Amino acid sequence: MNKSPDAQRMEKIVSLCKRRGFIFQSSDIYGGLSGCWDYGPLGVELKRNVKNYWWRVMVHERDDVVGMDGAILTHPEVLKASGHVEGFSDPMVDCRTCKARLRADQVIEKKGIRQCPNCGGRDLTEARPFNLMFQTQMGAAADESSIAYLRPETAQSIFVQFKNILEVSRKKLPFGIAQIGKAFRNEINPRNFTFRSREFEQMELEYFCRPEEGMELLEYWKEERLKFYENIGISRDRLHVKTVPDEERAFYSKGTYDIEYDFPFGRQELEGVAYRTDYDLSQHQKASGKSLEYFDEETKQRFVPHVVEPSAGVDRTVLALICGAYSEDEAPDEKGKMETRIVLRFHPRMAPIKCAVFPLLKNKEPLVSKAQEIVNFLRPHMNVFYDESGAIGRRYRRQDEIGTPFGVTVDFETLGEKDAALRDTVTLRERDSMKQERVAIKDLASILSARIS
Ligand code: ATP
Repeated sequence: MNKSPDAQRMEKIVSLCKRRGFIFQSSDIYGGLSGCWDYGPLGVELKRNVKNYWWRVMVHERDDVVGMDGAILTHPEVLKASGHVEGFSDPMVDCRTCKARLRADQVIEKKGIRQCPNCGGRDLTEARPFNLMFQTQMGAAADESSIAYLRPETAQSIFVQFKNILEVSRKKLPFGIAQIGKAFRNEINPRNFTFRSREFEQMELEYFCRPEEGMELLEYWKEERLKFYENIGISRDRLHVKTVPDEERAFYSKGTYDIEYDFPFGRQELEGVAYRTDYDLSQHQKASGKSLEYFDEETKQRFVPHVVEPSAGVDRTVLALICGAYSEDEAPDEKGKMETRIVLRFHPRMAPIKCAVFPLLKNKEPLVSKAQEIVNFLRPHMNVFYDESGAIGRRYRRQDEIGTPFGVTVDFETLGEKDAALRDTVTLRERDSMKQERVAIKDLASILSARIS
C-alpha cells in the first residue's frame, strides 16, 4: 500500500530525529521500552530552549507568577482527593485469543459483533476501567500503607502547596504558580512518536483568581498561550482553538479550550486551557481538613480561590516544532549541481545550535586558530559548534539539517591576505535564504544575540 505524503513526511522526521541525535527510542539496544523516549544531544537542547522560554515569559517576565518544583512521588490521599484514584481511567477490553489489551474504542464492531483489530478474534472481555496511574511502593513494607503514585500531572502539587506559597510569596489575587516537570500515564496505546508517551513533561500554570474573574482570564490565557506558540516559530495557520463542548468538559469546568496543532498525523491537542473553578482547592481543603481559603483584605471576605489552568506538553511542543520546521528544498552542491537539501527551519530562539564556525580549510593553521578564537569568544553568549571536516558546502548542509540558523566562515580575507580592509571580518551565512554577508568579528556576538534572543 502506498503511504500518504503525510505518513512519508512523518517517517522522514522520525528517521532524521534518530540519525542526527534529537530523539531515540528508550532502552533501544534492548528492543525499546514502549511509550518512552530519550532525547539525544540536539533534542535536549531543543527541549531546554522550549522550557526556558516558557519559564521566561510565564514566570520571569511577570510580577504575578512564581515557580515551584514538586516531587514526582505523590501521597495517595492527594490523588484520591483530586479524583485520579477513582476516575483517571480508560475503559479497556482484553482479547482472549491474541492476548492484546485494547482501548474499548479500538474494538471493531461489525453487525453488532465485537472483533479484535489485531487478530480478528471475537472472544473479548467486557470493558472495564483501567487506571492510567503508575503505582509504586515506598519503603520496606509491602502493604496498602506503602502505596505511592508517580504523578499523572504536575498540577496537584501546586494545589497542595497553595497555602505555603501564598504565605511566603505574599502575592495578592490574581496570581499564579508555575511548574515544569515530568508526569507519567500508563497510556494503553502510546503512538505517533513522542505525541502520546507514558513518561512526558508538562509546563503548567495554575492562575488563582476571584470567581468573577474566571471567564475573562480564560480568554486572556488562551490568547497569551497562542502568542507563546507564535513566538517560538509555530505558524498561526497550523494552530487551532477548539472550544471543548459541555458534554466533553470535566463537570467542574466552566470553560475549556484545547489548543490544537496540525501534525502530519492529524490535528491534535498541544495544550489545554481550562477554567477549573474552585474544584481542586475545595477538594483538597475537604480531604486534608486544612483551610485553603484566601483572605481578601479589602473586602474582609474569606473564600476558596478559583483557578484558570494553561497546561502544555513539552514533548508535544518539541514535536510540533520539529514537524513544522522540517522542509526540503533545492540547493547547489560543490559542483553547482542542484540537490535536495533537508532543512529544519527552527526559529533562531529555539534552534539547538545557534551558530556553527568553520575554518575554510582545516590544514591552514592561521584559519583554524582564528576560527577557534571566534568559538571561544561566542561561547558565553550562545551554543556554538566548531566543524573543520569536509568541504564547506557539506558542512553547511549538515548544519541546515539540524536547523542551525547561522554559519560563520573564516577565510583568507579574514587574515587580511587579499585586502587589509577585510582583516578580522568573516562570512555570516543565514540558513533559510542562504544569503551571505561580511561582518566584523568584533560585532558578531551582538549581531547574533539580537537575532536569537
Ligand atoms: P489527551 O486527550 O491527548 O490524552 P489530555 O487532555 O489527557 O490529553 P491533559 O490532561 O489536559 O491532556 O494534559 C495537558 C497536556 O499534557 C496535554 O495538552 C499534552 O500536551 C500533555 N500530555 C498529556 N498526556 C500526554 C502524553 N501521554 N504524552 C505526551 N504529552 C501528554
